[in-house]
This record gives sequence, structure tokens and C-alpha cells, in this order.
Amino acid sequence: MIGPTDNRVQTICTWRRKNEPTQHAEHIINSWDRWQFSFSDHVETHHGNKFLYEAINGQSLKKSLELRLSESENFTRLVEPVDRSQAADNCFEVATENAILTATNLFDSRPPKFGHGTLVQQFFGIVVPSNCLREKLVHPRLMDFTLPQQFDGALAFTYILPLTAETVLIEATIFARTKVPYEALRSMAIEWLVTNAGGEFNGDMVLYEESGCLPMGNVVPLFPGHPIGLASGSARPCSGYALSGLQRQLSGLSHENGYSSVTCSPYSKLSAWMDRIFLRVLNREPQIGLSIFAAMTHGLTGDRFAGFMTDNFNAVDALRLIATLPKYPFIDAVLKNDI
Ligand SMILES: Cc1cc2nc3c(=O)[nH]c(=O)nc-3n(C[C@H](O)[C@H](O)[C@H](O)COP(=O)(O)OP(=O)(O)OC[C@H]3O[C@@H](n4cnc5c(N)ncnc54)[C@H](O)[C@@H]3O)c2cc1C
Repeated sequence: MIGPTDNRVQTICTWRRKNEPTQHAEHIINSWDRWQFSFSDHVETHHGNKFLYEAINGQSLKKSLELRLSESENFTRLVEPVDRSQAADNCFEVATENAILTATNLFDSRPPKFGHGTLVQQFFGIVVPSNCLREKLVHPRLMDFTLPQQFDGALAFTYILPLTAETVLIEATIFARTKVPYEALRSMAIEWLVTNAGGEFNGDMVLYEESGCLPMGNVVPLFPGHPIGLASGSARPCSGYALSGLQRQLSGLSHENGYSSVTCSPYSKLSAWMDRIFLRVLNREPQIGLSIFAAMTHGLTGDRFAGFMTDNFNAVDALRLIATLPKYPFIDAVLKNDI
């Protein structure tokens, strides 16, 4: 394994069926069977009968996976960035500043290029003591649209996670055609905090921060070898959520010959089609997303919403979802294949 130690703080959330055991018990920060969406005039609360929304400490998960690998005799770890890699005769050559290695197989998780028309999901989160807030938050608020839209060509919302009894994560997020400076997203997270704080906000309240940028749509791997992770389409196009896709890719590995399960998109044809249409609509006019999410979160139960987000849905569920959506932009997007 080659690459610098990944020390980024990462709160990774995903839905899990209540009756399926978790593979990450020791890294779970919290889990909830209710989640909310907040609009200027109302709040939708979803209840998961079958699904939980779970927050995992990505940093500790990665550390423990690496530790487990290091216990294997055949594992070698080179803590340096890869400078170059190339296909050679029946093998791959990988060069770092201090070493050149050859390998029969090469899996490469370095970030891919975003494809044409792929939207960015960019976010900046700050974690503060929960007693900063006027009102104690009990359920995750997956999309809060109470701040005015403030970026051109982008749908902006705040994601608020009551991580522990003492801490809360406030994350400003955009679905956008192009990235914005992270500082602008940090300011938005602070604006939400100031609006919802019990008293004066000051910078000393920030415990830690995290940020990232995930693809919503096709990606183009940049390197030879087998792409994995985001580079092989593990992020769900309509949401940027990547962990459950990655888990599907990995669980396929033990059932298949060859590596196609980890190097290809893990999502069903039905979800790929629905995501493509959804992203076409969003790409033309990102802020239309507000009315789409208002309709969708109102029209679906918690389980149907979680089922859709985790690609656990069938054609009948898809029709139910379509019935909740504003019709014109979607019919137009199906008819005009312009992005
Ligand atoms: C802050 C944050 C929050 C997230 N939240 C969620 C969430 O709530 N739900 C969800 O499902 N997903 C979430 N994700 C996405 C998810 O954690 C992962 O990004 C996803 O699982 C894909 O993993 P990956 O290995 O492809 O990418 P990464 O985890 O980004 O790994 C890429 C690796 O490549 C390494 N690398 C980069 N350049 C080089 C180089 N030159 N040489 C060697 N190595 C290199 C990096 O060090 C890194 O370890 C989040 C991501 C971030 C950053």
C-alpha cells in the first residue's frame, strides 16, 4: 500500500437496515431512526422503521483497517505520495520520490477527474459544543434550506448532525456546476450557527472542521491500473454518498472472479437512469432542487426515502417517487438529452 497517511477528519454517514449487522461497530459515532428536512415554512420528519441513519468516524475506521492490514505478513506500507505510475510489460510501475516498485496488479484510489456535466458536492463543516445552539437538536437535519440561496448556479443547504450529546456538526453544502472557495462555505456554516445560536458566537467555540468535494455524476479515472473508490464510481451520482457503494463493490469481490465488482459502478441500472434524469434537471437549474426535495421528502416515507438513497428500491418504488416530483422539468429532461 502506497500513499501518505490519511489524517483527514471525516464523518461518514449512511443508512443501514436495522436488521443487518454493522461492520463498523467500534467506529459508530451515533445512529438515529429519525431524520429531518427544514424549509422556510415547515419541517419534514422521516421515521425509519427499517432503516437507521448512522454516523461513522471515517478517520478511525481507516486507521483500524490499516492496522489490521499491517498484521498480515505480506503487507508492506510505503508512506509517500505516488509521483508517477505506468503500465509496463505485464506489470505496472509505480514511482515515489524515493522508490520505484513493480506490481502485477495495481488498484488506484487517487481522485479522478470529474466528467463533463458532473456536478460537484462541496461541503465545509464545523463542529461546536451543542450548548451553543438555542434549541437542542435531537435528529439529524439532512437538508436545511432556511438560509437564503447565496451562490450562483448552485443549490446550497446546511446539514446539521447532533453528533454526540455534547457536539454538533454544522456543514454548509452545495450541489453546483463549479466549486466555490471553501472560505465561502465556512462563512455560510457560521451564518447558520449565528442565526441559531443561543448567544454570541466566537471562533473559540469551533472544536474541529472537515471539508470535501464529491462527484455527482460520471468520473474519469486518471491513472493506469484498476480504479477504486470514487475513481470507480463508488459515489452515488444523485447524492455523493459513497460509503454504501464502496461496501457493495467490496462485498462483490468475494463472490466474483476478477475485479469487475470493485472497478465498476455498484449501482443498479434503474438508479443510474433515475440519477441521470435528476442530475440533468439539477444541472440546468440547480436551485430547482429546493422544490424537488420539498416534494420528494413530503411524498416519501422514511423507509422509501432511505431505500432510494441506498439503491434498495424497485420499479414500483421508482414510480411512487416520480409521482411526488414536479412534472415539467423532468419530462423536459427525459425528452432533451442535452447534458
Ligand atoms: C469530509 C468528508 C466527509 C464525507 N462524508 C461522507 C458521508 O457522509 N457519506 C458517504 O457515503 N461518504 C462520505 N464521504 C466520502 C467517503 O468518505 C470517501 O471519500 C469514499 O468512501 C471514497 O473513498 P476513496 O478511497 O475513493 O477516496 P478517499 O477516501 O478520498 O481516498 C483517496 C486516497 O488517495 C490518497 N492519495 C491522494 N493522492 C495520492 C498520491 N499522489 N499518492 C498516493 N495516495 C494518494 C489519499 O491520501 C486518500 O487516502 C466523505 C468524504 C469526506 C472527505
